Amino acid sequence: MKLKILQAGHPTLRQKAKELTVEEILSPRIQQLIGFMKETMYDAPGVGLAAPQIGESLQLIVMEDKEEEFKKFLTAEQIQTRDRRNVPYQVLINPKLTIVSPEADEFYEGCLSVAGFIGLVPRALNVSVACLDENAQPLTIQATGWHARILQHECDHLQGVLCIDHMNMRSLSTMDNFMRYWKQTAR
Ligand code: ZN
Repeated sequence: MKLKILQAGHPTLRQKAKELTVEEILSPRIQQLIGFMKETMYDAPGVGLAAPQIGESLQLIVMEDKEEEFKKFLTAEQIQTRDRRNVPYQVLINPKLTIVSPEADEFYEGCLSVAGFIGLVPRALNVSVACLDENAQPLTIQATGWHARILQHECDHLQGVLCIDHMNMRSLSTMDNFMRYWKQTAR
C-alpha cells in the first residue's frame, strides 16, 4: 500500500521519533509498515524514507540508491564528485549516527517532505551508523560520500530535523528553476 507523505509544517515531522523494541520490530504491524514504506519510497521515487514522513513517529528508515536510476540524470563526472555508488535496499531501526571525520561538502539536496524545492546542504563525508535491521539483528554501516549524505538526511528525520535546517538558504530553488539554471553546475 502506498502511504501519504507528510509535507513540511506537519508537527509529526518536527518530533523526536520513538525507538522500537525487538518485539515491536518483529510484530506483524511493523513488518507490514516496513513493506508499505518500501513501496512508498519506490513510488515517490526517493532514495530514503523515514517513518515520521508517513505519519508514524518511530525510529524506522528504509533506503536504497540504485545506480541504474541515478545514472539517468547524473554525468559520470557528477557521480564521481558526489562519491555516489549503488546502495542496496536496507532497513535501519533505532540508528545511532557518528560523524567519523569533520570533512564535509555541499551539494543540492531535496526531501520528499519539502516537495518541489531543492538547495545546497553541507554534509559530513564519512559516517558510521549502528542500528538494527528488519529482523532486529544489529547492523553497523560505514558510509562515505552520497551514502553518508542519505544516512544523515534520514537519521535527521528521526530527530525532527529537516534538510532545510542545514540548507544554505540563498541556494533554495524550485525544482523547475533548478533544472533550468543549476542542474549543469558541478554541485
Ligand atoms: Zn527527507
